[in-house]
Amino acid sequence: MKRRNFIKNASLTGVGIAVGSTLTSCAENTSRDSKATAIVKASLPLVISTWDVKNATAKAWEVIQTGGNALDAVEQGCMIEEANEKGQSVGKGGLPDRDGNVTLDACIMNKHGDCGSVVYLQNITHAVSVARKVMEDTPHVMLAGKGAEQFAISKGFQPEELLTEASKEEWKKWKVKAKYKPIINIENHDTIGMLAIDKNGDISGACTTSGLAYKLAGRVGDSPIIGSGLFVDNEVGAAVATGLGEEVVKTVGSFLIVELMRQGKSPQEACEEAIGRIVSKPNSNYKNFQVGYIAVNKQGETGYYSIHKGFSMTKFQDAKNENIQSEHYI
Ligand code: ASP
Repeated sequence: MKRRNFIKNASLTGVGIAVGSTLTSCAENTSRDSKATAIVKASLPLVISTWDVKNATAKAWEVIQTGGNALDAVEQGCMIEEANEKGQSVGKGGLPDRDGNVTLDACIMNKHGDCGSVVYLQNITHAVSVARKVMEDTPHVMLAGKGAEQFAISKGFQPEELLTEASKEEWKKWKVKAKYKPIINIENHDTIGMLAIDKNGDISGACTTSGLAYKLAGRVGDSPIIGSGLFVDNEVGAAVATGLGEEVVKTVGSFLIVELMRQGKSPQEACEEAIGRIVSKPNSNYKNFQVGYIAVNKQGETGYYSIHKGFSMTKFQDAKNENIQSEHYI
């Protein structure tokens, strides 16, 4: 996975040319692409994820292919990445905050618009599953910190050390070089966000992250904030974000994308407009940070857009699976 250095590698030249989905068969939906008048045909079911996460997306696809629903698919897909210690941005092995604590944020949404989320969760690998329990077993939407951890343990989740030796070593090296002050987005970050449409045509989504590496202790990003990091409306579509969460929160990006699709925009057009809202702010510092979105509408058309080069979307649809480099603003 080449996800971790995307800010550093971001090209500052060239304007991306957006092309829409090039899908085949089935649902016979058509729509206008944002920068080309392509006829788009989409097919269902499908799973899309932020970044190059083939194993995770394949798991979700398998769940759907064997008759599972979209909610089970996105949860089980995200769990693959949470358990992958080598991916140092999600679940076990995630890079810690400046004080060496690994703290996880995650959320999930189902076809009814129900949602659950966990914030600043420690010592539990499968944050996405705890978020699902919050949604299904409590009258609440969000649980944070110790309360979230205690809730998870009460539901049978096993506490474990999330800071792996490899992540600890990287943190120690960072501490030697870094000035201990709250400058955001000088370090790496990533999130797995996943959206699925099952064989019944129902949509669910999830996202899970350890947030910005070396963040200030207590910092929470967009990923557990419903409407910012993720939004699902089963009548319209869904969107999920990755990148500098502060900028996503300020523009309520995922909700914005779904509302734009409701008003008739394609997923591609909606993602582009959400990025546009960020970069067009008078004081926007967008050359120095990354945000990326992926989206899908009810018909199975997909879109993706980021500020910088380097972001990608993994897609399983029809008999095909692919990792596609995202279109980008600069
Ligand atoms: N959006 C996440 C956050 O800000 C991090 C990421 O996607 O890399 O916490």
